[in-house]
Amino acid sequence: MYAVNSDQHQLLSSLTHLIHNSIAPHADETDSRGTFPSASMKALADAGYFGLTLPKDMGGMAQPLRMFVAVVEEIAQACASTAMIYVMHVTATQGILNSVTLGEREPLLREIAAGKHLTTLAFSERGSRSQFWAPVSQLTPCGDSFTTDAFKSWVTSASYASSYVSSVQKPGAESPMDVTLYIARPDAPGVEIGSRFDGLGLRGNNSLPVTFNAMAVSEQDLLTKQGEGAAMMLEILLPWFSIGTAAMANGLCRAALKATTGHLCSAGFENTNSQLRDLPNLRSRLAEMSVRTEQSRALLAHTIGEMENPTPMTPLYVLQSRLAAIEAAVDVTDLAMKACGGAAFSKHLNIERLFRDARAGWVMAPTTDHLREFTGRALTGLPLFG
Ligand SMILES: Cc1cc2nc3c(=O)[nH]c(=O)nc-3n(C[C@H](O)[C@H](O)[C@H](O)COP(=O)(O)OP(=O)(O)OC[C@H]3O[C@@H](n4cnc5c(N)ncnc54)[C@H](O)[C@@H]3O)c2cc1C
Repeated sequence: MYAVNSDQHQLLSSLTHLIHNSIAPHADETDSRGTFPSASMKALADAGYFGLTLPKDMGGMAQPLRMFVAVVEEIAQACASTAMIYVMHVTATQGILNSVTLGEREPLLREIAAGKHLTTLAFSERGSRSQFWAPVSQLTPCGDSFTTDAFKSWVTSASYASSYVSSVQKPGAESPMDVTLYIARPDAPGVEIGSRFDGLGLRGNNSLPVTFNAMAVSEQDLLTKQGEGAAMMLEILLPWFSIGTAAMANGLCRAALKATTGHLCSAGFENTNSQLRDLPNLRSRLAEMSVRTEQSRALLAHTIGEMENPTPMTPLYVLQSRLAAIEAAVDVTDLAMKACGGAAFSKHLNIERLFRDARAGWVMAPTTDHLREFTGRALTGLPLFG
């Protein structure tokens, strides 16, 4: 589907083994206990996947965007929590890779490629909620450097990441969109990480509130020049996050389709000597699930091509891909619940986990509401932010 070459196919088949042996076995416990999938992330780190998209001379695998998508889709079929943590990591890594201001950029990228450094995004704030593009926290000059107070409301991998790619208003900002991005470290003085994450889905994410109390930020920690954070957010981080989460949603759709097909073909009625697949309404639901899944994957494949050879339409495809995929995941997993009845409602088919995990994409920013609004604005020639 994502037009990978034969070497990349080989890499994906070794990933399938890794997922089968080292990620899938932990998925149930990750969900039921709401624990961070440390063993799954270690397996990815040890096999080099932390540096999937980093250049070879930094120790990375130098794989393109389409492999990021293919890898995330594979992982999400087994454990969406692991896939989401990984999407956050690769997206934040792209910010570090594209930084022209960060001191220690290269050693940090080498640590990432060596699987020794997990990173993530800390954008959402209590004061601007899902409107991540407009932080309310401010950077206050203090001698040669700065301090900041911030209430970051959701940080995936909060207790496990080695760094957070964070946003703040630049000193003297005239608007909340005068943003600077910087690296925060969870072990820095003034950082307080919240308590246990107990969400409906993606329960292994460790997505906790984190408070920065008069935390020091040095010039060396800046990921962008002052006031140039919005450009990095919108031109680099948003596209990587959008296609990564679209791939995760597509993985959930594929897992739901597989589980539903398996159940319809294996469960039946002794009283009529027939199987569930003999019921036309269930076959119809399955067909709809398949169409929605493949539509979403095809749009994502097209979007990857757009991103590799950008046109003025590329940002629109990026937004639409995320929107289509997260809506498909919610609808497809809902259809799976309906097609499989009580067997899905109980936990033994794993479908209810997929159903709960799919709901997270809907509320993660940019939410479906934001995506619809941005897409409508772009189509009618209005600026993205009114
Ligand atoms: C599992 C999970 C992991 C997360 N991980 C991270 C992370 O690692 N880093 C991070 O920065 N954030 C993260 N988030 C936060 C996420 O991106 C959102 O910021 C958060 O879910 C918003 O919740 P809220 O209650 O503040 O939403 P609100 O902003 O209160 O939204 C409530 C409703 O209003 C709608 N709405 C809001 N603004 C508009 C608008 N302008 N136009 C139309 N409708 C609007 C929304 O779509 C939503 O339906 C995570 C969230 C989840 C669920």
